[in-house]
Amino acid sequence: MTEEIVVIPGDGIGREVVPAAVSVLEAVGDFEFVEADAGDAVEAETGEALPAETYELAASADATLFGAAGETAADVILPLRTAVDSFVNVRPAKAYPGVDALRPETDLVFLRENTEGVYAGHEDRLSEDLSTLTRVVTTSASERLAEFACDYVEDRAYDGFSVAHKANVMRETDGRFRDAVVSVADDRGVETDEVLMDAFATRVCLDPTQFDVVVCPNLAGDVLSDLAAGLVGGLGLLPSANIGPDRALFEPVHGTAPDIAGEGVANPSATIVSAAMLLEYLGYDDEGRAVRDAVESVLADGPRTPDLGGDASTEDVTHAVLERLD
Ligand code: ATP
Ligand code: MG
Repeated sequence: MTEEIVVIPGDGIGREVVPAAVSVLEAVGDFEFVEADAGDAVEAETGEALPAETYELAASADATLFGAAGETAADVILPLRTAVDSFVNVRPAKAYPGVDALRPETDLVFLRENTEGVYAGHEDRLSEDLSTLTRVVTTSASERLAEFACDYVEDRAYDGFSVAHKANVMRETDGRFRDAVVSVADDRGVETDEVLMDAFATRVCLDPTQFDVVVCPNLAGDVLSDLAAGLVGGLGLLPSANIGPDRALFEPVHGTAPDIAGEGVANPSATIVSAAMLLEYLGYDDEGRAVRDAVESVLADGPRTPDLGGDASTEDVTHAVLERLD
């Protein structure tokens, strides 16, 4: 049976790196690609950044590969995450041999709560002087994340996971999050250690090898995983997955990179590794592994795009990855 993959290049370098990743997927499997529009360009044309048809496709496909959207990013990616009912954002941050990194020993995976926290809260302007924000934390969402985290570390033979929080100050909300996550892990016999999120920021910079898998509330996961991106040498390398109960959406962590869009020099690695995560999600573990190995080998020996100090094009790098897959 041919599996269907929805492909949404979006804007900017999304239109360059997504086709690169699709050519890699074509090389390792028999997939049917359904391309859909989203972002600034389609909004300019139709008035809608996320056409209903695109939403429906993402909401019914097993897997979607997304590039990036420009000004309309919030109108595109937030509903797309809802379309797949994504409760966890998986963000690996791994340094690669041969790539300049502040901390070359970094190999982390953030499991970020993807539905609540301050991003789901209500912001209100109460007076000329006062604005407030309500933060949403439920036991059910925290438990769902924890179950996923337990499966994740069991499947990959990690010793356990860390829980980053600030429950010493936000006792009600982060306290609920921490209690729910730790209690699920205890029931499952999965080891956890707790780390205050501010202390985590310092400790991970000083020695990232102290951590493997880090479970975080929404905002903390957003900020701390970007911090880790700095440790491993840049945005062009970081993949991500938005996982829901029945389907998932994969995207590079970077945006549209307007400063280099259209020049054909964007680094396709983040999107190609996102495609490897997609393969593994669909059960093609060997193919996913092969794609990761090919990317790793190209990052080690070149060719490299300008963001990594080289002068190769997106196409050169994609070609090299395809060659090493053979
Ligand atoms: P957006 O608003 O869409 O996020 P941005 O201006 O924040 O756009 P990003 O895509 O987040 O741009 O990128 C930030 C910087 O990192 C830019 O200088 C961009 O060129 C660089 N960058 C991001 N992704 C890549 C990539 N895949 N290859 C090379 N450089 C990249
Ligand atoms: Mg950006």
